[in-house]
Amino acid sequence: MSSTKKGLDLQWQILIAIIAGITFGIVINMNLGANVTEGPIYAIKTFFAYGGDIFIRLLKMLIVPLVFASIYMAIAKIGSPQELGKLGGKTVAYYFLTTALAVLIGLIVVNLINPGQGIDRTALEALNITTEVPEAVSNQGVGERSAVLIIIDTFVNMIPKNPIESFAKGDILQIIFFAVFLGVVSNLVGRRSESMTAVIESLDSMMQKGVMLIMKIAPYAIFMLVAAIFMDLGFAALSALGKYAGTVILGLTIHAVIILPILVMVLGRYSPIKLAKAVAPALLTAWSTASSAATLPITMANLKNRAGVDGKVSNFVLPLGATINMDGTALYESVAVIFIAQLLGIDLTLGQQAIIFITASLAAVGAAAIPGAGLVTMGIVLTAVGLPLEGIGLILAIDRILDQFRTSINVWGDTTAAVVIGRSENAIDDSISPENPLQTNQITNG
Ligand code: ASP
Repeated sequence: MSSTKKGLDLQWQILIAIIAGITFGIVINMNLGANVTEGPIYAIKTFFAYGGDIFIRLLKMLIVPLVFASIYMAIAKIGSPQELGKLGGKTVAYYFLTTALAVLIGLIVVNLINPGQGIDRTALEALNITTEVPEAVSNQGVGERSAVLIIIDTFVNMIPKNPIESFAKGDILQIIFFAVFLGVVSNLVGRRSESMTAVIESLDSMMQKGVMLIMKIAPYAIFMLVAAIFMDLGFAALSALGKYAGTVILGLTIHAVIILPILVMVLGRYSPIKLAKAVAPALLTAWSTASSAATLPITMANLKNRAGVDGKVSNFVLPLGATINMDGTALYESVAVIFIAQLLGIDLTLGQQAIIFITASLAAVGAAAIPGAGLVTMGIVLTAVGLPLEGIGLILAIDRILDQFRTSINVWGDTTAAVVIGRSENAIDDSISPENPLQTNQITNG
């Protein structure tokens, strides 16, 4: 991850891989159309999809042990439960603030642009855009559960009934809770926890090294992932829904390049450009994989090694953020729901828009950090304002590409939190930068 090594820095390698993947995918798509299901092109696409899957699996393989070990070490370093409570409180408050700001930007942009008005419905119908409710949405029983209950559930369910089960299921929030609990207890028992801490400390170091190894294949894997996606992309749907996609992307851009950087500068007293450079590999990986969870190991490594945020803050703030802080998803949901209403010719009152503001913020907290999760929890927002779930079918065709953009913003939001909270805890080493990263032999724990 170092730029001191010879050759191109990792983020440039990944960027080149993305551009090459897009170009390759589009050339095939233009010449042969999307969804080729046989012949050599199909074989290549399948091969590429496997390549991308291997990379994502390798990253996911590290998440559970990495999150557990790094949070335990972070808490063991923090020491007192009071200090920990303060850190947790600040983090959650910052997450709620940025999510609310994101939804607000989404609402403003969509109300100014009105992407759903004057759209050619026959063009959409000609594309056979489905109006079937995706199974995951109807399975959620969104009709019966209010957004508030869903959010309370999210927090109560953080407490694992059986930590081994949480590990097996890969439930990040439960693993965070257990690791925090164990870290606090380790401080209370003092010397008698030393051998356990030593074991977890080595696990943490090994996982961090593991992330570095896996990153070596990132550019190749990301090329394959992106090429496979673009080989299949429905460009006709993209142009029919172009105004809607443009509105989502505009909102995300305003949030990412104006709102969050202001917070980084004012609250974090940190250069947003330096931060963006430091976490560029994570942002690009998020764009390619559409999964904040899969990206998490890279985000954690970037923050510590290239942005200089001490692990005692970033190792706690980032896993929590990956699961509960989704600025991009919240913004996207507010735009999408209003777009659907406009498309269906339904006028929303100011009161309904206020409900969208609240439910979109909450639904984003409940969304899993995996591809397509935002689309599923959008059912909550639609139900809350009495819109038909079928509306989701209208935007399904271009969801993957928008997912890529919103996931990058989700991860960007988490990294800004790490800097803002890190500064308030005096836990940033300003001498570390992408040009002067923490050297691998310095990487120990915390
Ligand atoms: N894919 C997003 C993420 O992992 C969640 C979403 O679907 O909006 O952050």
